[in-house]
Amino acid sequence: MGERHDFLPPDRELEDKDPFNLSLHPHQLTDNYLSLEQKGNDENATYNAYTDGSKMDEETGAAYAVFKEGILIKERKLKLARYCSVYQAEMLAIRECLVFLEKITKPGERATIHTDSQSAIMTIKQRKCKDQMANEIQYLITKINGQSQVNLTWVKGHAESTGNEYADYLAKQSLKLKKENYDKVPRSYLKARVKEQISEEMSTLYTGKINNITKKWLPDLETANKINKADPYIIGNKAIAAFITGHGYFNPHISRIYNQGEPKCDLCDLCADQTSTHILWECPFFSDQRNRIRDQLDYYKQEHNVDLQNNAQNEELLLRAQMSDKKWITIIENIKSIYKYLINKYYRDKQNQQDT
Ligand SMILES: [Zn+2]
Repeated sequence: MGERHDFLPPDRELEDKDPFNLSLHPHQLTDNYLSLEQKGNDENATYNAYTDGSKMDEETGAAYAVFKEGILIKERKLKLARYCSVYQAEMLAIRECLVFLEKITKPGERATIHTDSQSAIMTIKQRKCKDQMANEIQYLITKINGQSQVNLTWVKGHAESTGNEYADYLAKQSLKLKKENYDKVPRSYLKARVKEQISEEMSTLYTGKINNITKKWLPDLETANKINKADPYIIGNKAIAAFITGHGYFNPHISRIYNQGEPKCDLCDLCADQTSTHILWECPFFSDQRNRIRDQLDYYKQEHNVDLQNNAQNEELLLRAQMSDKKWITIIENIKSIYKYLINKYYRDKQNQQDT
């Protein structure tokens, strides 16, 4: 997998966590100043400001409008990069509005910002917040509240609040802007890209040349996940896992990993490598167990009207049979019994070598 920055759009940076390390005085972030309550226009405030974010057809915009005693004194439209979230837009609008209010509020004056984003207020209310923009907003609120007073309250969207409707209108207008005011990549974007990439890589890994034996049993990740979801015991079982991966007490694996013995099967005269496929579908030594497994497969085929030869190509069918009608107990028991024999044989042989 590549480095983290590979997931970012070219020349763009990730929204940092906690750049300020602020220690805010607790009273400055109490409910008196940050409220989820619907309060409406603040009659006692000198300034009532409305903020909004908007996302449409992959364009992201934000805006704020400031009214002084009912008269519009400032409006600003902001454009965000297209990968930015609507949450980032809401937060940007609040931050920029605070930057403006900080410049104009005089000591003793009061300003109230109305946002329709409850999640924005909730994030800003957090004492120890990891969101960069929320930290910047907390910082600005604290700064203004030193001399004047600024409140942040919730306004229900599209509820006939003229101020909110106007901010909404401005935010939609801002979608058309070309110049970006904000282009930090949200962590949600990065997470989604990383997830996408991992799933892609797993898929390539799986269908690639990593393990041909596993691939035969579980042709792709989707099948593997499906079977695992249907019954984790199937893939979680040690014996089944050994057969699926080929990593177990099979001679080719033992000779490769422990540099012991030959890959050839020493239980029959077929001169074949003792792969998990050979053991399960060819080796005469295990014909009893195999017949019982095949009986189960035949049963499955009759039940489901499947026309397939019993051969090594049908391992996948075996797993599907286990999955679909829960008749896999017989099959699992036989695979386990084969595997138990192989384990015991391995330790018996080892003991014999030490004895001689
Ligand atoms: Zn054999």
